Amino acid sequence: MCGECGCGEREEIAVHKHILEDNVLKAEENRRIFNSNNILSINVMGSPGSGKTTLIEVTASSLTDINIGVIEGDLETSIDAERLKGKCKSVVQITTGNACHLDADMINKALESMPLGELDILFIENVGNLVCPALYDLGEHIKVVILSTTEGEDKPLKYPVMFKKADAVVITKYDLADVLNFDLEKVINNIKKVNKRADIVVTSYKNPESWINFLKGKIKLAIPS
Ligand code: MG
Ligand code: ZN
Repeated sequence: MCGECGCGEREEIAVHKHILEDNVLKAEENRRIFNSNNILSINVMGSPGSGKTTLIEVTASSLTDINIGVIEGDLETSIDAERLKGKCKSVVQITTGNACHLDADMINKALESMPLGELDILFIENVGNLVCPALYDLGEHIKVVILSTTEGEDKPLKYPVMFKKADAVVITKYDLADVLNFDLEKVINNIKKVNKRADIVVTSYKNPESWINFLKGKIKLAIPS
């Protein structure tokens, strides 16, 4: 695990503060790169298995006239990047080894190998984790936190830092809601307890329209025609 969890000694905490300050500068550099290339960038965060890669996959299948780039973050393997290759314009895998989050410098290096002038949207799929990815600005325009029906309704209360940072919370696998006794009203209330401004989008692999419409609205704002 990384040291940002706050379990370190005082000296370590000072080092981490420094790391976070450096990260802010790199994030600003990334944001300048996104803006100068007219790329809408989206940081996708959520637990392992919540449906982050699937959401990107569905987006690529639905918006075929949009050029999508993806940076995939995982501890190991390029399984997710392989899944998306051929469906997206450009896919880069970052393997973090021990680090349980992506930072702005990793993104900055990945951008060097991407055809930035050709991209409309860049998805950054963060490492599956509801804790420290929330602490690292990557320079993205939108932070999306995914919560699948299989995770239950209590996660926004248990991981408030992550949900507080979200611009949008996407509830995935909603087609399983009945089987799981998932209470949508309860989860929406829990999200609102920690974050009143986030958009809430309810979606599933088979029925992704609400997510696609949400995204189309964001594209229009970022890239006015
Ligand atoms: Mg994934
Ligand atoms: Zn971490």
